[in-house]
Amino acid sequence: MRGKRILVVGSSNTDMIIKLHRIPRPGETLLGGQFVIAAGGKGANQAVGAVRAGGAVTFIARVGKDMFGEQAVAGFVKDGIDVTHVLADHRSPSGVALIFVASDGQNSIAVASGANGRLAPADVRKAKSAFKGAGALVAQLETPLETVECAAAMAAKAGVQVILNPAPARKLPASLLKHVSILTPNESEAELLTGVLVKDAVTATKAAAKLHRLGVATVIITLGARGALISNRDGTKLIPGFKVKAIDATAAGDVFNGALAVALTENKPIEEAVRFANAAAAISVTRMGAQPSAPSRQEIDQLLSRS
Ligand code: ADP
Repeated sequence: MRGKRILVVGSSNTDMIIKLHRIPRPGETLLGGQFVIAAGGKGANQAVGAVRAGGAVTFIARVGKDMFGEQAVAGFVKDGIDVTHVLADHRSPSGVALIFVASDGQNSIAVASGANGRLAPADVRKAKSAFKGAGALVAQLETPLETVECAAAMAAKAGVQVILNPAPARKLPASLLKHVSILTPNESEAELLTGVLVKDAVTATKAAAKLHRLGVATVIITLGARGALISNRDGTKLIPGFKVKAIDATAAGDVFNGALAVALTENKPIEEAVRFANAAAAISVTRMGAQPSAPSRQEIDQLLSRS
């Protein structure tokens, strides 16, 4: 049975990736690359992660009125995401990330946020009816902060839990944190927010304690292959990751957040929800790309029942 509806507010990008033996230097032209195009953007990745994991998802976003935006929306529709509140912007192009990946795994990324930068509080307010009866709001930081703040405040007012994935990392105002039910930083984001170098469960526990002092009741710090640490008023607990052959960690955190929202809106206890999210994210790292790597509910359930 499906849980309550999940609202995702955030970015949509088209990732254009060239894989080549090394990253070109300024002024240099390198031949011999392989080109891949994949749907990305943290908001869209989390929306796709959630719908494939079995959630009912409404996405609030802005794309450009261009080929990339049209393709992105067609992808959301194909996955069964409600796109009523995905707006086509006349003035800005769709968000694009140009990515070089070298054979040693190093990358270099340039992002033109385009229409994502114009997702405004008014756009979120227009989606007010979608907040009523929703089970969770999921947000990240690739769209203007004032828009995230507006969405979080509306969710809190409507009694909807707010899951904030503080990525890309930046300092956060208390006015936003006070509405956050669950904060989900990775190691480097937790470090930026707290000043604690996070590298294991002990240091993650210290960072989580600082985040609680900023007013966040539940902190889930993702720790890559090691899994994720839950910290709340019941204490702290490390939920171990699943052992898989990692190929590409792009969007692991996004798939984690989408799946987490699904499990929580199905009223699974938090430890079980994090195990579910660990399973979804583990499958995603065995595949290339952002949205192409997000697993189905069936695949997640299979991994959970085997382990
Ligand atoms: P981000 O992608 O935001 O940097 P993490 O690297 O912490 O975040 O990964 C998010 C989640 O993805 C982890 O909590 C874990 O569940 C899963 N994960 C990441 N890397 C691996 C891996 N190598 N093996 C298994 N699971 C992984």
